[in-house]
Amino acid sequence: MYSERIKTLKPYLFASIDESKQAMIDKGVDIIDLGVGDPDKPTPKHIVDALCEAARDPATHRYPSYSGLLPFRQAAAKWCKDTKNIDVNPKTQVLSMIGSKEGVAHVPLAFINPGDVVLCPNPGYPVYSIGTKFAEGVPYDMPLREENGFLPDYEAIPKDVLKKAKLMFLNYPNNPTAAVADKKFFEETVEFAKENGIVVIHDNAYCEMVYDGYKSPSFLEIDGAMDLGIELYSMSKTYNMTGWRLGFAVGGADLIAGFGKVKSNIDSGVFDAVQRAGIAALSGSQDCVEDMNKIYTKRRDVLVKGLKSIGIDVNPPKATFYIWAKVPSGYDSMGFAKVLLEETGIVATPGNGFGDYGEGYIRFALTKEVDIIEKAVQRMDKLKF
Ligand SMILES: *Cc1c(COP(=O)(O)O)cnc(C)c1O
Repeated sequence: MYSERIKTLKPYLFASIDESKQAMIDKGVDIIDLGVGDPDKPTPKHIVDALCEAARDPATHRYPSYSGLLPFRQAAAKWCKDTKNIDVNPKTQVLSMIGSKEGVAHVPLAFINPGDVVLCPNPGYPVYSIGTKFAEGVPYDMPLREENGFLPDYEAIPKDVLKKAKLMFLNYPNNPTAAVADKKFFEETVEFAKENGIVVIHDNAYCEMVYDGYKSPSFLEIDGAMDLGIELYSMSKTYNMTGWRLGFAVGGADLIAGFGKVKSNIDSGVFDAVQRAGIAALSGSQDCVEDMNKIYTKRRDVLVKGLKSIGIDVNPPKATFYIWAKVPSGYDSMGFAKVLLEETGIVATPGNGFGDYGEGYIRFALTKEVDIIEKAVQRMDKLKF
């Protein structure tokens, strides 16, 4: 009955983790879930209010425009200028998305012919390779190794692979490794992409989740990047809006036009009321973002200290709400995740769930209140490595 395409697909990573979590809950275990990267705090009030108001306006009840509500695209362009110092024309270089997962999944359809190679970071967000396969492209793993600061090594990609490569996904600040990239790396990326005729999709879902004064650069800031790149922005993590399904793509006009052509043939855009709420988020005070970052900083520090105290060495990340930790020697990712769950009731994500090169690591999401993270740390205290 099913297509080959979905027959070879494993269950979505978090769907299978949910199953083992549920089994523990059924046994009566008090679970602390640091698994999935979903902000625990509510969406800021001014954004919710904007939605309520917009939803009462019948003008929002009809089909939205394919490329997105123009005032939303204008707000996105202004936000890009203010926070990232990039200039984009809201009419031709900005596109609304139903969350960036949708964008990641569909963008290969615009640039890939069957058999073309797509360079995908490994470990990485699973949808990069899945979206590639759905477009009948061939994912090629770029290992993100700790000794390279979890950046891909372009030199290591074989020539015959490069010949077939048409598209590349990048994601900094990075999920799952929490690594960041500097402008120099992005400059090298533009050179590399230009030389090899590769379109770069930079998934920038975590650009505002930054700590200790760190500022995350935009890929599109780099000279030449606009001709070969699209950057995907998500409202989800920045404004605690994962459930709302809203993001936007910016980039070179030709690239955005290609992506828009795919989207207009698949979906009919984002509910206008949600886009109006998005305007409130992007144009309103950004204090809510800063407040969340302070909260994540505290949680991060408690968990990093706790992990160190049981013999797991981690550096506090500059960005994202993840801690990417090496598992203790003698364990693999799955084995350690199992011990954590069974001995302490803590859910964390095994690194190999993000690809083979994530083996040997585990990811914790800082998505619980600081006192719960403290409780997690106390529970882990009985595990010493
Ligand atoms: C969470 C996440 C997304 C998905 O964001 P949505 O806008 O909610 O679809 C995309 N990419 C990465 C790397 C993520 O971690």
